[in-house]
Amino acid sequence: MAQNTPPPLSANPLAGDGSAPLFPFDNSVLNLPPRFWRRIAPQPVRAPRLLALNRPLAADLGLDADRLASPEGVAALAGNTVPAGAAFVALAYAGHQFGNFVPSLGDGRAVLLGEVIDRQGRRRDIQLKGSGPTPFSRGGDGRAPLGPVLREYAVAEAMHALGIPTTRALAALVTGERVLRERAEPGGVLVRVAASHLRVGSFEYFAARGDGEAVALLVEEAIRRHYPTADGALSLLEHVVAAQAALVARWMAVGFVHGVMNTDNMAISGETIDYGPCAFLDSYHPGAVFSSIDTMGRYAYARQPEIAAWNLGRLAGCLLPLIDRNEERAPAAAEQAVNGFFPLFRREWLGLFRAKLGLAGAEETDGALITDLLARMSRGEADFTRTFRGLVTGRAREEFADPSLFDDWAEAWRARLARNPPGTDATALMRAANPRIIPRNHRIAQALAAAETGDMAPFSRLVAALARPFDEDEATRDLEAAPRPEERVWRTFCGT
Ligand code: AMP
Ligand code: MG
Repeated sequence: MAQNTPPPLSANPLAGDGSAPLFPFDNSVLNLPPRFWRRIAPQPVRAPRLLALNRPLAADLGLDADRLASPEGVAALAGNTVPAGAAFVALAYAGHQFGNFVPSLGDGRAVLLGEVIDRQGRRRDIQLKGSGPTPFSRGGDGRAPLGPVLREYAVAEAMHALGIPTTRALAALVTGERVLRERAEPGGVLVRVAASHLRVGSFEYFAARGDGEAVALLVEEAIRRHYPTADGALSLLEHVVAAQAALVARWMAVGFVHGVMNTDNMAISGETIDYGPCAFLDSYHPGAVFSSIDTMGRYAYARQPEIAAWNLGRLAGCLLPLIDRNEERAPAAAEQAVNGFFPLFRREWLGLFRAKLGLAGAEETDGALITDLLARMSRGEADFTRTFRGLVTGRAREEFADPSLFDDWAEAWRARLARNPPGTDATALMRAANPRIIPRNHRIAQALAAAETGDMAPFSRLVAALARPFDEDEATRDLEAAPRPEERVWRTFCGT
């Protein structure tokens, strides 16, 4: 593989005694040829302040949280200085945005600080989002408003606590500068941790340029980082298909709507990435759309599986020459791999929803029982999270505008529960599968509004509650509540 030696960077003037580095970087990205990344210079912000620091995650990454919270750490997390050993690069990628191919996107407002090896020996990227313009900014300001930064922090950490693969949030900062969107808003920086930032769009960037050598290097990189047992491009594709099927099934099981499933927002690792106008369902509706820019409902709740498969088809297209040199065999093999998504998704989805209903073992009609409940929830405008949690507490029927919708279904459900294998603890199954606390859109909105006035208390309280989504806790009953009509959030914004 081509070796690229980056030019030396200016030393960090705030570095402590010069002994241990702030981050124990181990950067593999710089081993990729320079056309994969652009070195960028720090774009300091005026008065960075740390608003949230994820201490357990810092420890997991082998970082000193106290030092991260010190002036030296804050300067590095804000992108004001380049910590020793940092890569400090923006990555190149392309992407299909709402179905249309854009050949050059890239990190327009993010910098890959570098990679560290965590306590479990896993390589993880540390990225600053909102850290300033890059060669990929395309006229954008390279900045992020504080609202979306805190939103991504809270939702990513909630997803993690729900057991869903996701990028993590290490820190959130306010920059002391304003960014201009519909209005002037405080600027923020999110410090994000990912298994990698390889996206479907990374492959598309090079495939669109006819750079087969680069695509082959990406295949090697993806296998090395995420699927060490994969053997070649087709095998990699099959692994990514399986990871995405498992991921999207998990989204469906908690009522999560990603909102912008463009191919540049789909990670090869199978982690949820790029939280923008995402939302959790309040009342259940398969066609639910929150994103203000998704006017056609392309990324509606129930369309997420087919969109994931469509995106995987774009990945497959990039890999064709590596799958088989024979121009007839390659597309057939790729298509078969991508179509494998649907049975895998179905199996994952059934497993997750069986647990949500407290069902053990498998009966032919389980799928119909689940679908029937969902159809009734849609008709009865039942709250997604509260209805499923209500199966445990016995209060599910109260969530339906017309409770008889539930009662008619519950007869068949109880009969099926009675056929669970002996010794099944259905209540325990349901308690572990149906969260009590999710990042409800109106709670997030309230926490962000308070944060903008300088009051971080609601945000901190929400984040703490989201870390234990399945536990009963009298002190956080208010966070369980569905929004009152006037609180309900119908539209979410990406803040780009
Ligand atoms: P996103 O909506 O975050 O998935 O971003 C889509 C593309 O737009 C990516 O290439 C981003 O880097 C770029 N982008 C988003 N916001 C900005 C911004 N404020 N300045 C420059 N580029 C941006
Ligand atoms: Mg993105």
